[in-house]
Amino acid sequence: MDKFEALREYFGYTEFRDGQEELIDAILAGQDVLGVMPTGAGKSLCYQIPALIQDGLALVVSPLISLMKDQVGALQQAGVGAAFINSSLSAWEQERALREAAEGRYKLLYVAPERLGAEGFLRLAKTVKLSLVAIDEAHCISHWGHDFRPSYLKIAGFIASLNQRPPIAAFTATATGRVREDISRCLQLRNPLTLVTGFNRPNLKLAVQRPVKKSDELLRYLRGHPGQSGIIYCATRKTTEDVCTRLCKAGLNATRYHAGLSEQERRSNQDDFLYDRATVMVATNAFGMGIDKSNVSFVLHYNMPKNLEAYYQEAGRAGRDGEPADCIIYYSASDVHTARFLVEKSGEESEESDPAAREARIANDLELLKQMTFYCTTSDCLRSFILRYFGERAPAFCGSCGNCLTAFEELDITIDAQKIVSCVIRVVNSLRDTSLDSLGQATICDILRGKATEKVTRWRMEQLSTFGIMADTDAQRIRQIMDYLVDEGYLALTAGRYPALLAGPRAADVVRDRKPLTLKLPKDIRPPRPEKPSGRSGRGEGRSGVGGSTAPLTADEEILFEKLREERRRLADAAEVPAYVIFTNASLREMSQARPTKLEAFLDISGVGANKAERYGERFCKLIAEHLQQCAGGS
Ligand code: ADP
Ligand code: MG
Repeated sequence: MDKFEALREYFGYTEFRDGQEELIDAILAGQDVLGVMPTGAGKSLCYQIPALIQDGLALVVSPLISLMKDQVGALQQAGVGAAFINSSLSAWEQERALREAAEGRYKLLYVAPERLGAEGFLRLAKTVKLSLVAIDEAHCISHWGHDFRPSYLKIAGFIASLNQRPPIAAFTATATGRVREDISRCLQLRNPLTLVTGFNRPNLKLAVQRPVKKSDELLRYLRGHPGQSGIIYCATRKTTEDVCTRLCKAGLNATRYHAGLSEQERRSNQDDFLYDRATVMVATNAFGMGIDKSNVSFVLHYNMPKNLEAYYQEAGRAGRDGEPADCIIYYSASDVHTARFLVEKSGEESEESDPAAREARIANDLELLKQMTFYCTTSDCLRSFILRYFGERAPAFCGSCGNCLTAFEELDITIDAQKIVSCVIRVVNSLRDTSLDSLGQATICDILRGKATEKVTRWRMEQLSTFGIMADTDAQRIRQIMDYLVDEGYLALTAGRYPALLAGPRAADVVRDRKPLTLKLPKDIRPPRPEKPSGRSGRGEGRSGVGGSTAPLTADEEILFEKLREERRRLADAAEVPAYVIFTNASLREMSQARPTKLEAFLDISGVGANKAERYGERFCKLIAEHLQQCAGGS
């Protein structure tokens, strides 16, 4: 079997993505490799395919139990013999895995780094033929990385103890030169092929927002994305708890994850998220390494993260299936203080005995934090900012990030502010003899714009002198200026469910003293029209990495999609694996659009390999055929 056959047969893909082929070829030729590719780019395949093609057993060192479990589950679904050994197994299960590995029943064996020193394991490693040793999340070996794991330092000793040294393949998404050098040096890689692919993930929509009230903005966002799976990262355990509680109270299906929870609760919450029993995960940065869930549609940062490496890795957990996904930071200036505090505290608590080394690390962390702050406050292209940070050349305008879709302009709002505040004062005065204090933002906006709505005429507001004085100003712009005036105390809002607008404590500055005011406001530009896909959608991901079908489903396709999803849910429950391990959303989407009713056509769907086609093809084809029949009968 060659690499192309393996790609088709086991994974159901037709093309390699950027970098995969080169890395696979090098490993097959016996060379060490260091693959630096962004999260979601497809690093696993780079060692899985050589493992499948070659004789012997591939060892995969991986930092997290959940990661191993998922990857092994996915491999088994694809028809590959694979197992893991870690502390979640009983002694007896570990024995069995070792024995079966020795018998040649597996192509891949996943192990935690701690395992490398265990006697039984060493015996196995010295007796079976190893096809390669792969180190996933290899940045864990570096002190300069953000996930340093002391046990990763054992890997080199383990490799040196082997009778025969197989090729070593290390993978990471962390791109800084320092981390890369550490990996090469600590693992004692020999003349490795170091391959750094582009870090661009075109399907990720990056944005930074400064919500006036983060919790309200978050609810608004989640209500606008019902049923979609996503992660909300918070800076501290406390914020994580607060946000999760609030979301649950609001009726959202959220769960939480942070280091303060028992291991059992962490595991069960994580599983709820992976298995789609909970749609939203609220977590600290303790969550997510090795989470390969492919249908994460958004990653929101409730607080600014501590550096761009961590940020891009966390954000990169969105949209692995190639579907469009949002990566939004809710920035506020106070986040910078919190982040700095956390860095300094980590300095005090660290076990580094050498004060000079500690100083150097803190200085390094503060510098990284500064870059992160620049990202949050720039009004330039965010994609370009990140790519350049990782040392890549990038055009200054991507046309799809939050900043590219927004041009900012500094506006003189002195006159507008006077109009709005005096209108509010007149409304309040004219309502004096009624039961109302004032009217809400929307109605005041109507009055300013000269709209004689039912509510406006009911209170005779069309007779005010301020009626229609902003007739040619866009309602959204008026609302933006109102928000600013409220924030700054020129206006105030009453408490309660339907807040009404009142003059604020500083109202006189505007109406009496005519204080000049300016406001930097986003100038809306329409997003550029997406390019027409050439040929069939869902294919042609090209060399630039993740793509996938983004053509929206028609109403009818949506119905079919739901039926397929329902079926996937049943199968996943029966197999006790997360749904995306059976088929990704991208695959289901493509099925809903291409509607294959024969196995042959079903195999053409991206993500459907021979094994899955054999296992599930008939059921899905039947469902699709039934759906087509119903449609034909119905019309
Ligand atoms: P990484 O480890 O780099 O973050 P993964 O190995 O988890 O990424 O892969 C991310 C997703 O991309 C997975 O769903 C995987 O099946 C998919 N993928 C990998 N290679 C290809 C390919 N050549 N064509 C299509 N999809 C791919
Ligand atoms: Mg990975």
